[in-house]
Amino acid sequence: MASRACKPETIYESNTVDIQHCPDCKMIHLTMGSITVRMSEHHFTQFAQDMSKGLFEFNAAYAQPSLRVMM
Ligand SMILES: [Zn+2]
Repeated sequence: MASRACKPETIYESNTVDIQHCPDCKMIHLTMGSITVRMSEHHFTQFAQDMSKGLFEFNAAYAQPSLRVMM
């Protein structure tokens, strides 16, 4: 549950995700449509790297050339 002190600040937003950081509880809020996932700062940094690795593997194995992200 979010505490009343929470004032998350948007650090990044795009068409697919809003990423907010809450300085009060030191949590990252990932909002994708109606879903919000909250995780610790440490978890977020690990998760972001895991997503990048997953994207790399997806591109290598399955993605059509038109979907490939230039990295
Ligand atoms: Zn908070």
